[in-house]
Amino acid sequence: MSGNRSNIFKGIAAAPGITVAKAYLFKKEKETISSADIENVEEALNTLDEALEKSKKELNKVFGLAIDKLGEKRAAIFEAQIMILDDPVLISTIKKRIKEEKKAPEYIVNDEISKYQAMMDQLNEPYMKERSHDIEDIKNRIIRNIKKKKWQSRITSDVIVVTDNLTPADTVLFSRVNVKGYVTNFGGLTSHAAIVARSLHIPAVVGLHDATAKISDDDLIVVDGYRGEVIINPTEEQLKFYKERIRSLNLYDKELAELRNLPAETLDGRKITLLANLDISEEIDLIVRNGASGIGLVRTEQLFEELDQFPTEEEQVKWYNQISEKIYPNFAIIRTLDIGGDKILPVDVKEANPFLGWRGIRFLLDNKQLFKTQLRAILRASSHKNIKLMLPMIASIAEVRQSKEILEECKAELRNEGYQFDNNIELGIMIEIPSAAVLAHEFAKEVSFFSIGTNDLIQYLLAVDRGNEIVSGLYQEFHPSVVRTIDFIIKEGKQNNVFVSICGEMASDPIAIPLLIGLGLDSLSVSPALIPVTKQIIRNITYQETRRIVQKCLEVATEQEIKQILSDYFDKEVKKHLKSFFVTN
Ligand code: PEP
Ligand code: MG
Repeated sequence: MSGNRSNIFKGIAAAPGITVAKAYLFKKEKETISSADIENVEEALNTLDEALEKSKKELNKVFGLAIDKLGEKRAAIFEAQIMILDDPVLISTIKKRIKEEKKAPEYIVNDEISKYQAMMDQLNEPYMKERSHDIEDIKNRIIRNIKKKKWQSRITSDVIVVTDNLTPADTVLFSRVNVKGYVTNFGGLTSHAAIVARSLHIPAVVGLHDATAKISDDDLIVVDGYRGEVIINPTEEQLKFYKERIRSLNLYDKELAELRNLPAETLDGRKITLLANLDISEEIDLIVRNGASGIGLVRTEQLFEELDQFPTEEEQVKWYNQISEKIYPNFAIIRTLDIGGDKILPVDVKEANPFLGWRGIRFLLDNKQLFKTQLRAILRASSHKNIKLMLPMIASIAEVRQSKEILEECKAELRNEGYQFDNNIELGIMIEIPSAAVLAHEFAKEVSFFSIGTNDLIQYLLAVDRGNEIVSGLYQEFHPSVVRTIDFIIKEGKQNNVFVSICGEMASDPIAIPLLIGLGLDSLSVSPALIPVTKQIIRNITYQETRRIVQKCLEVATEQEIKQILSDYFDKEVKKHLKSFFVTN
């Protein structure tokens, strides 16, 4: 597709899928706020009470709908909003001010709730900003109800909603009339509305800045939730292209369904345990649907970020139990918190080099209570014996031994408290720091599995910040030192009967798969959506052939040569088996 046409606009791909439909511009009326004095305080207080009651009713309705459509955990966003309406301090402050200042209730509500928001915005943390949006929604809802206006939309079915910013409540409510997609000026990937859209499987592109200025009501638009593109009034040629993409996506879906129950086995019989990475909890259904053999990495920091506070042991047990039950009889590897680095820390520390600082296991060992809470929760969720435990950012043997001691301490406590758990829970480590790779032989005697984290391994091996655009060209997954290090880790692991997997992004690169199989990995853990194509690749190559490829790759000295070997092989031997995938991506 020629990508530079003037009717193609780029935003953030917030929820996957492609849809073509007419646009519906949803404009939220900005309520005017009068600061006029009032005469009748009693009447104002009654109006406020009625508005609070009405707002609660509306939100309860959304909450009920959200439980149906999204499940309890996601629906909790709305529960939190309802709780604000019941906040005694907030409500009594508002009432007190109405009595004292004799100003219209909407003025005081706006002023008081805006103070909360300003506080949150100042914290400069994405989660707080998100909460601030939710509170904006509550504020507007109360003010609208004070003015006795209805939540209005003339919305009909089968349109794409185009708006400034979506609230999670709007996202849920619109889904009732079969909205086909969402396009917004603001919002990011982790905004609550984006999370809700993903849960509802409605394609969404957010953060387009001026979508509402560029798009008019009834314009035909295409939302490409894979690429984060919106095409306004597509040409015949573009329309044909997207219809073809939708058709092949459907075809691809059919092929996937057939693949689902087939093993990830090479043509000459080498079986690979094909696992998925779980970043956000809603992905688990896709993981099961796509036929993964288990979860190779549960990034628990993501679960924590959803709440942005450390969940209690009970809350964690509930999450991990859900994972264990949904993936059963397959297994899930739960990685203890890997915060720090590019992931926010719960404490306010400024580090000059966060990637080399207080991150992963270092943070956990320094915050033993928090570490123990998580270990206890993981153990308590392990009674079906399908949970494994993994430690992130391991650099030294001492870190593993210390963690094992803490794990034993947790087991002893739980035993005393009468809890059931898997006493032989398997312990593994991420190999993502070069020192751990070098000492793989020694680590193999300490743990039962390795998971190679190439995202970090590459950055630490090549001294290239994984998130720095300026040096992104130097971040090379096919750098010979990366390939040789992976080879070394696998050999050392195998010699000691350790199960070796890879869960970095490299495993999600189709061209890398023959190389990784040939290097002798037992398992690959990839992003959930890529399970089928990865399986398809594995099922169409021979281990013998990939061994030959690996031999060539280990002999050359530059990234370019390795890339050439791999892409030649891919183009010649693999691509032809992946027709529908390459039409759609
Ligand atoms: C990795 O480093 O490869 C990895 C899987 O962990 P994360 O991306 O969460 O750091
Ligand atoms: Mg990592």
